[in-house]
Amino acid sequence: MDTLSDLIKAIAFAADKHRDQRRKDVCASPYINHPIQLVNLLCNEAGVSNINVLCAAGLHDTLEDTETTATELTQYFGQQICSIVLEMSDDSNLCKTERKKEQIRHASDLSNEAKLVKLADKICNLRDVADNPPAGWDLQRRQEYFDWALAVINGLRGIHPGLESIFDETYARRPE
Ligand code: NDP
Ligand code: ZN
Repeated sequence: MDTLSDLIKAIAFAADKHRDQRRKDVCASPYINHPIQLVNLLCNEAGVSNINVLCAAGLHDTLEDTETTATELTQYFGQQICSIVLEMSDDSNLCKTERKKEQIRHASDLSNEAKLVKLADKICNLRDVADNPPAGWDLQRRQEYFDWALAVINGLRGIHPGLESIFDETYARRPE
């Protein structure tokens, strides 16, 4: 029961923090759909039941994309969940190109918990690029996104064969 209430608390927290944000697709879908997709994928497609991983998946974009602080996450969810969310957050001092290179360089250094969330994030974003891509992305940009995601994931393999094969099935949908 505690785990269920923790997960609901994490999703409610993320919904509040992302309340004014939208995804980049043509319909400008509510941002919270994306963290919920990660939780659903991990729990119901990949059979991941680790509550810290599921809560961190729901919270994974709060530090990077909202005013949420690490202190706040620690206060509400504890140090372990905060630490996974920190691992999911790019260094805001770097430009976007450098952030993307850093994700490739540091994928192998992530904790096992953060690797699971990273796999789920890349799977969900590839599904979005295939089905509901950001407005204005031409074929080359969509292909480059697929290839960058593959480079990141190739750096962290060996952690969860089920999720890795879902990633590979999704990568096979690379736009042509
Ligand atoms: P962005 O990183 O700007 O956008 C992709 C990110 O947006 C995803 O990782 C996801 O992150 C989030 N997102 C929100 N809505 C969607 C959606 N519907 N589908 C998928 N993802 C969504 O873009 P790029 O990956 O292209 O990286 C930007 C870099 O590319 C910069 O360095 C820029 O200079 C360069 N660039 C490249 C071009 C090209 O043609 N390749 C053209 C122009 C710039 P999250 O999970 O965190 O929400
Ligand atoms: Zn994300």
